Amino acid sequence: MDKFMETAKKMEQMSPEAKKQMMTKNRSMCICAKCPTYNSCMKEKNELLFCSTGKSACSVEMKACICPTCPVTAMMGLTHAYYCVKGSEKELRRM
Ligand code: SF4
Ligand code: SF4
Repeated sequence: MDKFMETAKKMEQMSPEAKKQMMTKNRSMCICAKCPTYNSCMKEKNELLFCSTGKSACSVEMKACICPTCPVTAMMGLTHAYYCVKGSEKELRRM
């Protein structure tokens, strides 16, 4: 089982409160706001953490994706990128 599958399994066993805390922590670590693809619409909607929440509600022009350098990628064992356009890690894995 790869790291993301292990993390996802652990999260399933967490209480709703613990899950919420983890999402808040990950959101604070998210570096999307520094990405060339991150636009004013995303900022206005306060969107972040697309790897968990899925696609942006904004129209997005793909310029680059800095997800591979984000600490959340290493911590969660993420294997994709451009989550704001393509959907969450779970969606991309068809989980
Ligand atoms: S991997 Fe990407 S979407 Fe997920 S927290 Fe990091 S920068 Fe944000
Ligand atoms: S998900 Fe990737 S492409 Fe989209 S804003 Fe975050 S770092 Fe940039």
